[in-house]
Amino acid sequence: MTQRDWIEKDFYRELGVASDASADEIKKAYRKLARELHPDANPGDTKAEARFKTVSEAYGVLSDEKKRREYDETRALFAGGGSGFGGAGGFPGGFGSGATGQGFDLNDLFARAGAQGTTGAGGLGDIFGGLFGNRGAGPTTSTRSQRGADVESELRIDFVDAVRGAEVQLRLTSPGRCERCGGTGARPGSTPRACPTCGGVGLVSRSQGAFAFSEPCRDCRGTGRIIDDPCPECGGDGVSTRTRTITVRIPAGVADGQQIRLKGQGEPGRGGAPAGDLYVKVHVTPHRLFGRSERNPDDLTLTVPVTYPELVLGSTLTVPTLDSTVSLRIPAGTASGRTFRVRGRGVQRKGKTGDLLVTVEVAVPARLDDAATEALQSYAEATKEFDPRADLLGGAR
Ligand SMILES: [Zn+2]
Ligand SMILES: [Zn+2]
Repeated sequence: MTQRDWIEKDFYRELGVASDASADEIKKAYRKLARELHPDANPGDTKAEARFKTVSEAYGVLSDEKKRREYDETRALFAGGGSGFGGAGGFPGGFGSGATGQGFDLNDLFARAGAQGTTGAGGLGDIFGGLFGNRGAGPTTSTRSQRGADVESELRIDFVDAVRGAEVQLRLTSPGRCERCGGTGARPGSTPRACPTCGGVGLVSRSQGAFAFSEPCRDCRGTGRIIDDPCPECGGDGVSTRTRTITVRIPAGVADGQQIRLKGQGEPGRGGAPAGDLYVKVHVTPHRLFGRSERNPDDLTLTVPVTYPELVLGSTLTVPTLDSTVSLRIPAGTASGRTFRVRGRGVQRKGKTGDLLVTVEVAVPARLDDAATEALQSYAEATKEFDPRADLLGGAR
């Protein structure tokens, strides 16, 4: 790039910003254009590619506070843009020689910027690999700002807590925002300062043949900030791996194996990006008596042993609920295995309440004394007309 380029090219117009645009506005405009025009997004489109290079070149200058000032001064010096420089050799002789008092050598400037790089051969893909590497992560994604990783954890709760909901303390050892420095990375009491190399932007220009490209600033590792006095806890990262205690609110009716998402409780983001989420997988310890209905997990299940006479003659049973007990009337002639619904004694959540499903199951005594055996035999004799298998044989057809 030559000084003449500077005079002829309106970098502000290329980026579609006003000449007094803030560094932030310039950055935003560039990112938007770079995304639209990136070769990966426009395969084979030479026009887009050319525009992409132009826009990158413009940003390379305007994103650098010092270069931008020099660019502005150069253009102010030759006000009128390119109009006065139509012909070859139309330049005044004093350029770069110091004769105008504004002497500087652009090529030198860019050569120096380029020389800082240790990987001079890095191509476009190299430079933009980070910038476009995680597409779809949001419009503000760049090499510098990256959403924190999601963290997974597990938790065991008992059945009653799963049904009613609970607040459970979870101890978690994972990277988290350093509490000592509040994530700034600077020793408590001190603050990071803007990186002088990139002016706090986090990006610097690098020349690539005739073009200048932006890449993350090496002096601040793209953060735009310099920490003179790092936090002793996290060493300047703003992130420390330690054991945190997190309160997990378990909603009423949570199922075994269900994941609860705690927004923003994962690993902290970098460069001001949001933190990841914490996913807590809940394991529910089974209850000795109660279960959850497969058809509707808001319904609790309970199996109640009954005697044969209770089923045949009917009776009123006292059955436990999660909170207390209820009376359940069994009508005469109830079959073993029948299920009764006790309304409103299941999982209670906002707006709806599950039921308690009570299944009666006959309990057969393993031994009978003589009197009971005799009584049962005479019962059998008295009911021999009743053949429960009358319909069974031949039923296969
Ligand atoms: Zn920097
Ligand atoms: Zn810290």
